[in-house]
Amino acid sequence: TVKKTGRGAFRVFDPAMNLQARDAVRIDAALRQALKAGELHLLYQPIVATADRRLRKVEALVRWHSPTLGSVPPDRFIPVAEESGLVVELGAWVLGEACRQLAAWGPAAGALAVSVNISPRQLTAPGFAAQVRQLLDSHGIAPQRLELELTERVLIDEGQHTREVLAHLSQIGVRISLDDFGTGYSSLSYLTQFRIDTLKIDRSFITDIEHCPRSTNLVTTIVRMGLSLGMELVAEGVETAAQAEALAEMGCHCLQGYVISRPVAADAVPAMVSYGA
Ligand code: C2E
Ligand code: MG
Ligand code: MG
Ligand code: MG
Repeated sequence: TVKKTGRGAFRVFDPAMNLQARDAVRIDAALRQALKAGELHLLYQPIVATADRRLRKVEALVRWHSPTLGSVPPDRFIPVAEESGLVVELGAWVLGEACRQLAAWGPAAGALAVSVNISPRQLTAPGFAAQVRQLLDSHGIAPQRLELELTERVLIDEGQHTREVLAHLSQIGVRISLDDFGTGYSSLSYLTQFRIDTLKIDRSFITDIEHCPRSTNLVTTIVRMGLSLGMELVAEGVETAAQAEALAEMGCHCLQGYVISRPVAADAVPAMVSYGA
């Protein structure tokens, strides 16, 4: 339908699209406020060694409780923030908060590492690597205790700038992790072009390994490939003991998922370091 708007202009009116766009504008505006008002916090999901179930690292996951919108899941607001560019500011807050928390856990956390999701726009924003360097310095964190989770998308449309940022991060000594591995583009060439420390095998592959031999074969192949390239392998979304068992047999180093632990509040982490998740 074509609608006459207030100022006398005509535009194509698509109710569904309009609703989505308005929703995004609303979420973006509310998120901008939320950042200032301190409505965001982080939860930490344990990642354990498959062999002894000891805590190796925690993944920082952002949470937003809005007084007006209620709880908004990251899958809903991260894409909106990525589109508007607000993710640069949001991501800086997440990274700062995760580093502050890692330092605050102190000696109780031992060599625990924290992994932080980095959106494509955040990675390529001016000064990103310098910001990482500065955070490590100011909190006195050893670089190898910070892992940055990138998606395949970042590496596939890499330009000269992305290449430089990744080289700079490599030089700083933070670890680089490929999140949701296998769901992006099928080119594997970037696995040799960039120094990638960790492969996180996407949950969609893990879900079926109990029942579907083809999935089992696929995950086995990913694990072998990662091992041969000297990477650490983390299975995401492990929900059953049988999946954990199968992954152990394959030689997958680490497990993350509800069968180990849901994401937890920061103050629950130190106890997990000493007693295991
Ligand atoms: P992700 O980085 O792949 O994080 C894993 C997601 O899977 C998390 O959802 C986690 O709660 C969920 N999960 C973990 N174990 C299981 C399981 O056993 N079963 C199931 N069904 N789910 C499991 P969450 O926290 O809702 O985050 C969703 C996505 O939002 C993340 O996927 C990540 O892409 C993005 N995200 C979250 N926090 C941030 C952030 O601070 N910055 C950026 N850029 N993205 C973030
Ligand atoms: Mg992640
Ligand atoms: Mg993931
Ligand atoms: Mg995901």
